[in-house]
Amino acid sequence: MTSTVTQAAGLLSKYKEKKVLVVGAHPDDIELGAGGTVARLAAQGSDVKMVVVCTPNNLAKRNAEARKAAEILGAGIEFLFPEKEMRVEDVKTYQLIDRIDRLVRELDPAVVITHAASNFHLDHVMVHKACVGAQRLHFFDMLCFYPTSCHPVSTPFHPQAYIDISGTIERKMAAINQHVTQFGCRGLTTDHYVAVAREYGRLAGVEYAEGLEVSRLNLG
Ligand SMILES: [Zn+2]
Repeated sequence: MTSTVTQAAGLLSKYKEKKVLVVGAHPDDIELGAGGTVARLAAQGSDVKMVVVCTPNNLAKRNAEARKAAEILGAGIEFLFPEKEMRVEDVKTYQLIDRIDRLVRELDPAVVITHAASNFHLDHVMVHKACVGAQRLHFFDMLCFYPTSCHPVSTPFHPQAYIDISGTIERKMAAINQHVTQFGCRGLTTDHYVAVAREYGRLAGVEYAEGLEVSRLNLG
C-alpha cells in the first residue's frame, strides 16, 4: 500500500508550484468529481484555479457556496459567466470556446482537469469538448473526472489514473456539503461519492481514490 501512495505522490508532484486549471460546468461539479485531488494539489503547493462555467439557478447562493467550497479545498475560484443564471447550452459555442481558450492562454496551466467525454449532461459534454479544443494552444496534460450529478446516473467511465485521496476525503465531502442548495434542501445525500471513492480506492490499493480518465499526459 505504501508504494502505491508513493507512486501517486510522485505523479502529482509533477504539478508542484505549477498552475492547475480545473473546469466544471456548474457549481459543485469540481468538488464532486475531483475535490480530493484539488485539495491534494493545493496542499502540495500547486496554484489551483477552479473555474465554474455557468450557474443555472440561485446564482448568488450557489456561487457563494462554491466560494466556500473552494476555500475549503485551498483553491482559487472564477466564474466564467457570472452575469446571469444560465446553462452552458445557453452560451453560444464559439463564446464558450473563446472563454476557455482565453483562460488557457492567460494561465498556461501544466494540467487541465475537467469533465469526461462520456456524460449524461450536455453542459458537461460541451465543457469537455471546449477543453479538448484548447489543447491546440498549449501542451498541458488533460485529465477528466467522474461523471457528476446530484442523482447517480449510470454513465460509461473508465479511469486509467487514480489519485489517493485518503487524506483529503473529509475535505472533499466538507466542500461538497457546502452546496446546501443542491444536497441539503432536497433530501439528497452525498454518500454515493464516498462509495465511489471507496470503490476507486479498492482498485488503486488505497482507502479512498478519485479516478481520472487520461486525455493527454506527458510522462517526460
Ligand atoms: Zn453539472
